[in-house]
Amino acid sequence: MRIRLMDTPDQVEAVAAVLRHAFDVVEESDEYANRGTSRMVRRYVDLRLRPKDAELDAAVRRLRKTAAHRLVTGRRWRVVITDSESADGIMPVCASPEHPVDDRGQQWSVYDCCDPHLIETYCEALAAFLVAALNDVPTLLAAVQYHGAGGAA
Ligand SMILES: [Zn+2]
Repeated sequence: MRIRLMDTPDQVEAVAAVLRHAFDVVEESDEYANRGTSRMVRRYVDLRLRPKDAELDAAVRRLRKTAAHRLVTGRRWRVVITDSESADGIMPVCASPEHPVDDRGQQWSVYDCCDPHLIETYCEALAAFLVAALNDVPTLLAAVQYHGAGGAA
C-alpha cells in the first residue's frame, strides 16, 4: 500500500518513523519539495502488514469461528473457592435470590442455589485467567472490527 506523506520535513520523518515501527516498509522515496515558497515536502512510503500481523489476524478469525460466538451467551463467570480452600474453581455467577446476601459481591462460595457446573482447575492463576477470558474475550471478539488481510471470516 502506497501512502503519501506531506508536511514539513520533521513531521514527515516523525510519521515515517511510526510507520516503520508499525508496518513492514518495503520502499520509501526521497523527499520532494513542494513548489513555490512552501516549506512542505512529499515522501512516498510503501508498506505492508507484517507477517506476524497476518498470523494474528488468522488466529483471531479462527477463535471467532470456533469459539467466540458459542460463548456469547450473556452468562458471567466467577472464581470460586473449592474444597481445597483455594480460589481454583470456576462457575457461572449465581443469579438466584436464594444466594446468601453476604456472598453476592464477589461470589466466592458455592451454595445449593448455584449452577452445579463447577470446574475445578487446581490452579488459582488458571481459574482467574479462565474467568477473565470467558467474560471478556467473546465480547471483545464480537465488538472489535479486526483489520484482517483476506476479509472477514
Ligand atoms: Zn447461588
